[in-house]
Amino acid sequence: MWIDGEWTAASSGDVMPITSPVTGELVATVPRGTREDVGRAVEAARRAQPGFAGLTAFERRDLCHRIADAILRRREELARHLTLEQGKPYHAEALGEVDVTAQFFRMAAEDITRLETAVIPSSDRTKRVVTIRQPRGVYGVITPWNFPLAIPSEYLSAGLAAGNAIVWVPAPTTAGCAIKLTECVLEAGIPPGVINLVTGEGAEVGDEVAGHPGVAAVGFTGSSPTGLAVSRRAAGKPQLLELGGNSPTIVFEDADVAQAARRSGRGAFRNAGQICDSTERILVHRRVHDQFMDELLAVAGEFRLGDPRTENTTLGPLNNDRPARQMDRHLEDARQKGARVIVGGSAQSGFPTPLYYPATVVDRVRPDMLFNLEETFAPVAPVLVFDADDEAVAVANSAPSMLVAGVFTRDLRKAFRVAERLDAGIVNLNESSAYWQPHTPFGGASGKASGVGRLGGKYTLLEMTQLKTLVMDVGE
Ligand code: NAD
Repeated sequence: MWIDGEWTAASSGDVMPITSPVTGELVATVPRGTREDVGRAVEAARRAQPGFAGLTAFERRDLCHRIADAILRRREELARHLTLEQGKPYHAEALGEVDVTAQFFRMAAEDITRLETAVIPSSDRTKRVVTIRQPRGVYGVITPWNFPLAIPSEYLSAGLAAGNAIVWVPAPTTAGCAIKLTECVLEAGIPPGVINLVTGEGAEVGDEVAGHPGVAAVGFTGSSPTGLAVSRRAAGKPQLLELGGNSPTIVFEDADVAQAARRSGRGAFRNAGQICDSTERILVHRRVHDQFMDELLAVAGEFRLGDPRTENTTLGPLNNDRPARQMDRHLEDARQKGARVIVGGSAQSGFPTPLYYPATVVDRVRPDMLFNLEETFAPVAPVLVFDADDEAVAVANSAPSMLVAGVFTRDLRKAFRVAERLDAGIVNLNESSAYWQPHTPFGGASGKASGVGRLGGKYTLLEMTQLKTLVMDVGE
């Protein structure tokens, strides 16, 4: 762990093993941090933050660029570790994640120097009113394992660019990636205490970060149930919560069906389906269902399951048991209620771990099945059929959580009408749900358990800073 400018063990001396989902072998051993360790990190961050906030935005811009440079210098090494620890294919995905990680630091570097505020007209002739944006102070950051470099870098880049000090708790199964990313931050030269990395069980160190009175604000990306627990612990603090997806894609009868199938299939299987905006459910109009299925099966056939370190693999193992159990439970529920598993449907044997699931397509899924009601987070494309447009919108909205929605239609009027009625934070037209540009606002819709606030480019900076109003008397 990196606390107060030093690499340190847990106060208890305990460690946690990290096992590779690719090989089943030990990848690393990391400290099992304690509440006391979080306390030390928060104190260090509180001491360091005012001085760090005193740097100009241009000095912090240069720091962010140096971090991006350090990440890119170690591009292949980071991607190799990411593949071994997380399971995503090295060539098809891991290198790309490292590039996006660097891009977040470049983007925050640029955006912070352009973060302007307002001069507000005064109702009183003797006063002038201006606003300034300031860092929130010590920012607690808790992150998941599906993009263990890219997602933390969204918070780290904007948080540091804005002048916050950070106490970061990464997911236990990918804590080695967090150590490597922290090394890149250190290579760029950063004062002690400005960034602190505490590894350990989320229920202990994550919980302590969320609730600690010295932590001013909390950024959390992870599942909806954990997000709610974090939100309660952090009651009263500013919170940026990016939670579970279960995103639908709707294919209307006038759509380019081949395009819809290709894009939603890739959206379902990329990163082995472990993306918050994965295509979790595909709603297809009955008249184009058969053609859609043919095209979707072709896409599923293109995803080559295998050792993610080899060049032609495009689908690696799941990261851990939890999505595997969820996949099995959802498949079992669907089979019992009459759905048809067309390809895939169980872990493939012959690999070093039981986490290798092929691209799976399930037809005749109904709204009362778990595939529709809960996020699966695995490489599966569940297909539901609809007849009427209103029915498609109602089924899409029936899931408790929904981050993003995709809509395929050639009818512009329908596209807009449907987009406005979907309870999603983002709607992609003629794209699957699994499409996002990192500088655009991303987050859950109100009324859904998919999060609070918006990440992405300057929107992250807005969340990680606070607005202060200054009133000055200038006399008569
Ligand atoms: P998770 O909720 O299990 O864990 C997320 C983080 O929270 C981990 O670091 C974990 O250690 C920590 N944690 C666990 N219990 C905690 C507690 N009681 N208090 C504080 N922290 C605690 O999620 P996961 O399995 O790592 O990630 C997968 C989930 O993340 C999926 O639901 C996915 O949709 C979601 N996700 C959302 C987004 C988004 O942008 N909305 C992006 C990626 C992933």
